[in-house]
Amino acid sequence: MTSYHRCPKCSSPDMIDGAYVADAQGIRVVVGVDAHPDRGRLQEAASTRVHASLCGSCGYIELYANQPRELLEVYLRAAAASRPTHVGGR
Ligand SMILES: [Zn+2]
Repeated sequence: MTSYHRCPKCSSPDMIDGAYVADAQGIRVVVGVDAHPDRGRLQEAASTRVHASLCGSCGYIELYANQPRELLEVYLRAAAASRPTHVGGR
């Protein structure tokens, strides 16, 4: 999250990385996985806080999950469990 990059909207190099994201009461925002499109509600859920990279020139904001791998692992385990055993399909 300290990687240098330009704003995807205005190409300014004035990016601020690692900013926190919170509601008006200061509660930090999280993103979570508790359902799979094919599998439905998951037995195990995962969530992680969110941080932002924002442009100091135009104000564009990008959001990133702090621990995306944990969410991916839960999601992939659910997808594997729902995969049909027969060959074919999509
Ligand atoms: Zn910008």
